Amino acid sequence: MGTLTGKTAVVTGSTSGIGLAIARGFAGAGANIVLNGMGVPADIEKERSGIETDFKVKAVHSPADMTKPAEIAEMVALGEKTFGSVDILVNNAGIQFVSPIEEFPPEKWEAIIAINLSSAFYGIRAAIPGMKKRGWGRIINTASAHSLVASPFKSAYVSAKHGIAGLTKTAALELAQHKITVNCISPGYVWTPLVEHQIPETMKARNLTKEQVIKDVLLAAQPTKEFVTSEQVAALALFLCSDDAAQITGSNYSIDGGWTAE
Ligand code: NAD
Repeated sequence: MGTLTGKTAVVTGSTSGIGLAIARGFAGAGANIVLNGMGVPADIEKERSGIETDFKVKAVHSPADMTKPAEIAEMVALGEKTFGSVDILVNNAGIQFVSPIEEFPPEKWEAIIAINLSSAFYGIRAAIPGMKKRGWGRIINTASAHSLVASPFKSAYVSAKHGIAGLTKTAALELAQHKITVNCISPGYVWTPLVEHQIPETMKARNLTKEQVIKDVLLAAQPTKEFVTSEQVAALALFLCSDDAAQITGSNYSIDGGWTAE
């Protein structure tokens, strides 16, 4: 028996990076998993079946687009219909775009706010009736060091991540009496597709080479001078689902190599 045996976790944006590590971490503790996210269907199926084989749990994939509230509700309903409950919700899906404000395309602003912030609101909205009924729930929002500090050229991302920190605290206060905890995790830089994709944009915005972006922008932000790993973030998420974390709610956990201590 794992610590999450009998529980179901919905992890948004879990077809790669941090979300996939969290999904695998929860499956390792015995939870059934609702994966979500974009990608090549064969790759997603490989990850889904890999979770079932590696951890002897059940996993389904929801193709819900995090810009569409109705699809977010369907994702939660899929978990409840397939496994009987959604006990854990990790709002993790995210995208990034790097550009000076005056050149920032409005459609990128809208997409980042929708996927990185509004999707968490709609996910929480859909998950709480079942959690309240069962008197137990864990909601974890993947925020970022950018929920605490800004960086130039990331206006939409920084705004969305500051927003999710506020949503976390508000939801925590509303749901505490129902034994539903709501926390966010704020990683520093983790080497994932999201970070890799922002390198050319950062090179352009700051007039730097790729090597300079990695060393002087990404690693320079973190006093440890090392990337955080997705598995380290997953271990923190797993702790926040444990009984030992029952009194932790409304918190924003930094895991950023000391970035926001400065
Ligand atoms: P990633 O690109 O590996 O994963 C992003 C996930 O979101 C993917 O599964 C992708 O398919 C999904 N996604 C994107 N748009 C979607 C949409 N419209 N609908 C459904 N799913 C969608 O990136 P990651 O670094 O693992 O990012 C995961 C979370 O971690 C994000 O919220 C990100 O802001 C946050 N984060 C990342 C870092 C980092 O350095 N990588 C640091 C702090 C916070």
